[in-house]
Amino acid sequence: MARRKNAKKPAPQKRLPKLGKAFTCPFCHHPESVECTIEKKLKIGKASCYVCSESYCVKINFLTEAIDIYSEWLDACEAANSNSSPRRKQIPQPVSPRYSDIFDD
Ligand SMILES: [Zn+2]
Repeated sequence: MARRKNAKKPAPQKRLPKLGKAFTCPFCHHPESVECTIEKKLKIGKASCYVCSESYCVKINFLTEAIDIYSEWLDACEAANSNSSPRRKQIPQPVSPRYSDIFDD
């Protein structure tokens, strides 16, 4: 009896992530206009939009991926937005709970 080799094709096509991933620009909101490049040698990640040419650089480590650069950019945008809102010093509101209200004996 000849053994039939079970020659399953064990090659599910590996989907390698594209080097340049495209994301929606946080500035002009153009879909897939932001490309992230990773300069491993320089340890710098860069995201830039080819529509409005906004760009963002961030320090990376060996774990950083394109999406990380992009999400850092989003975070930075959010931070910038909240900072640019009318300058308002955070005045700590004196919150003094009246104990007589809580412990009403
Ligand atoms: Zn843009």
